[in-house]
Amino acid sequence: MPLADSALTSYQDLLGTVSAAGEGRDILDPATGELVGKAPVHTVEDLEKAVSAARAAQPSWAALGHTGRREALNRAADAVDAAAEGLAELLSREQGKPLNGPNARFEVGGAAAWLRAAASFDLEPEVLVDDDGGRAELHYRPLGVVGAIGPWNWPMMISVWQLAPALRMGNTVVMKPSEYTPLSVLALAAVINQALPGDVLQVVSGGRDVGETLSAHPDVDKIMFTGSTATGKAIIRSSADTVKRLTLELGGNDAGIVLPDADPEAIAEDLFWGAFINTGQTCAAMKRLYVHEDIYDDIVTALAGVAAKMPMGVGMDENNVLGPLQNQAQYTIVADLVEAARDSGARIVLGGNPDPDRPGYFYPTTLVADIDNSNPLVAKEQFGPALPIIRYSTVDEAVEMANGLEVGLGASVWSSDKDAAREVAARIQAGTVWINKHGTVDPRIPFGGAKQSGYGLEFGVEGLKHLGAPQVISY
Ligand code: NAD
Repeated sequence: MPLADSALTSYQDLLGTVSAAGEGRDILDPATGELVGKAPVHTVEDLEKAVSAARAAQPSWAALGHTGRREALNRAADAVDAAAEGLAELLSREQGKPLNGPNARFEVGGAAAWLRAAASFDLEPEVLVDDDGGRAELHYRPLGVVGAIGPWNWPMMISVWQLAPALRMGNTVVMKPSEYTPLSVLALAAVINQALPGDVLQVVSGGRDVGETLSAHPDVDKIMFTGSTATGKAIIRSSADTVKRLTLELGGNDAGIVLPDADPEAIAEDLFWGAFINTGQTCAAMKRLYVHEDIYDDIVTALAGVAAKMPMGVGMDENNVLGPLQNQAQYTIVADLVEAARDSGARIVLGGNPDPDRPGYFYPTTLVADIDNSNPLVAKEQFGPALPIIRYSTVDEAVEMANGLEVGLGASVWSSDKDAAREVAARIQAGTVWINKHGTVDPRIPFGGAKQSGYGLEFGVEGLKHLGAPQVISY
């Protein structure tokens, strides 16, 4: 199925396609307060129609086989590439993240890359037993209809993380984007849908009620959820009666541990981006940094030097690499945590004083030193540009503090000695432990949380298996 001549590419076309005419909910640019567009407000009845249509479309989508579905995903990736600039502009205006840096253009590029990656993996049936007694094979069949519920921080990338493996495995998909960033997901789906048969991928842009109905729906076979741990728990409850399959990518509070032999100047920029990517609004960002007392002051100085140079501002300004917080609620969380840290006697090394006259939800890049491990800025997920830096004396103490929370999404160890770092990494309770980097993801490498950061894996062949129904054939 070639792409139509009237392929969607420009910002204006994309916005015109997804923004509700006349009515709908105002979506404002978090950097300027300007109107971006109007989000359609879909209802539970709209969701019911979408699920029925997805159920009806699923058998013929599955019948295309892996070859046909791979081709469709590759065409979808081409369509995303063709629309990349328009998509990045819409994402920047709605989410707030700048065009440049590891932000809007990077996210759209990632969406295309993950579509191609999901198309590329081989998933052959596994022969489990083959001997005189018989043969057993493990196959992965389509599940049916997959519901995908997403957050507002990386709305396009995370949507693709959910929809691409689901489609590849022969499922149809109904998405429920965050109320904060529906236009980005609607636009991305409109672009991808140029390469798909009708009703295979649908978006229902509603509120919590739509998410709850989707996760309880008897005709939905699996929920892919990315969002907070609290909502993840609500979804476990609402999906219980239908024993629905779940992949839960939940909140994190990732620790970074800097060993005493690390080189502060050499690692400062990677530490910075590990913590401040997307202005700290990233699930697997470094949210608390533990530094050995021997190099504590040098790390704080080197990090402050890098952080002070990173321009923050309106996303459409090509110079900026940091943007605003996406919404008022998140701004308040970050501001309150920093104030509580200041009141407790912690030292604000950089930032911490937002300009009350500046429009938009801009909170300055903030480093907080000499802070106690039990401080709320350390113990809670700040999800913003404020990094607490905690001093430690022994590696045992650092590992204990890193493992002291209920969540365990990612973590990192920083050292000039990779073997020493690997030994520490093995002791940390987290789904991924990076060495001398933090938060980098790769479509070939499985990703998922430990403890209350969720369960199930995304990406790679493991990710495909999580979107299939395992079936053993034995004879
Ligand atoms: P959130 O949990 O508030 O909302 C996520 C989505 O769930 C939204 O679409 C929302 O409408 C929907 N929702 C809310 N209540 C629901 C319910 N009862 N039933 C079904 N759906 C419901 O999360 P957020 O604030 O949008 O995102 C930030 C959080 O997401 C942070 O905690 C972050 O760490 C986490 N996150 C995790 C990952 C990961 O891969 N582990 C990635 C990105 C973000």
